[in-house]
Amino acid sequence: MRDQLVMGSLEKFKEIHPICCFCGGKAGTESRDEVPPRTLFFGRHWPEGYQFPACKNCNGMSRLADQAIGLIARMSLLDEYADRESIIPWLKGVQNNSPDRLPELVTSPIEARKLLKNAGIVKSADEFSIDYNIALLDEETFRYLDVIFRKLFCAIYYKHTQKILRSGSLIARRCNTNAFLIEDEGSEWLCLNFLQNAPKICRNGQDLSQQFDYRWGYSAIDGIFAVSFHLRMGIFGLMIGPLIDSDLEEEDTENLLVVP
Ligand SMILES: [Zn+2]
Repeated sequence: MRDQLVMGSLEKFKEIHPICCFCGGKAGTESRDEVPPRTLFFGRHWPEGYQFPACKNCNGMSRLADQAIGLIARMSLLDEYADRESIIPWLKGVQNNSPDRLPELVTSPIEARKLLKNAGIVKSADEFSIDYNIALLDEETFRYLDVIFRKLFCAIYYKHTQKILRSGSLIARRCNTNAFLIEDEGSEWLCLNFLQNAPKICRNGQDLSQQFDYRWGYSAIDGIFAVSFHLRMGIFGLMIGPLIDSDLEEEDTENLLVVP
C-alpha cells in the first residue's frame, strides 16, 4: 500500500512512508509535506494524494520560496482564479521576506500585445495589454525557486515509481513563466510523447487542474523519469532525471538540480 499517500494520522502515514522522499533516503519521516505547496492553491485547498513524507529539514527549507511561488504563479493573464482572490497579501509577504524575488512584469505594450495575440486572447477596448500581467523571471529567481522544483520532481517520482531518488541524482529542469508563449518554440517541449500519464488533480471531486497539472513518463529500461507541469498558469516546466554526466548536453548544465 506504499503508493497510497493518504490523509489520516501522522503515525499511520509514517508507517506507510518511513523515509523522507526529498533527501535521498538519508532521513526518517517527521512530517507530511504538501507538494506542490499549498500557497499555490485557491483557499489553500491542495489536491488529494499530494502529501509526501518529509524530514523536518526538507519540510522547512522551501518556506520562503513557497511564498514567492504563490505570488509568481498568480501573475498570469490566464489564471482562472485571478478575479476571486486578492494578490495583495502575496505581494506584501514577498516584499517583506524576499524582496529580491519579486517578478518583473512585462511593461512593453508591444511585447504584451504579442503575447495576448499568441495566446488567442481578445482584450476589450477599455483594457491595456500590459494589465494582463505577463511575468518575467530572471535566472537567479528561477534558481531561488529550484528548491520547489527539486521537491516537486522528488515527490512525483516517489509517487509514481515508489522509489526514493538517490542522493546526488541530477535532474535537468527547464522552466518558464507564461512568457514562453511569446517564444517561437511555444509549448512543444511540454508535450513529449514520452509523457503518457496524466493523473487527475482533484479534491472532493472538484477538478484542480487549472491550478496544478502534470504529465509524466518513466522508462523502466534506463530508469529515466520525466514530468511536464504547470503551476497555475504562471509557471510551466519540464524536468528529466536522474541523469548521469554522459547524458548531459551542454545547455543542460546550467539548469541542473541535485538531490542532497
Ligand atoms: Zn529530508
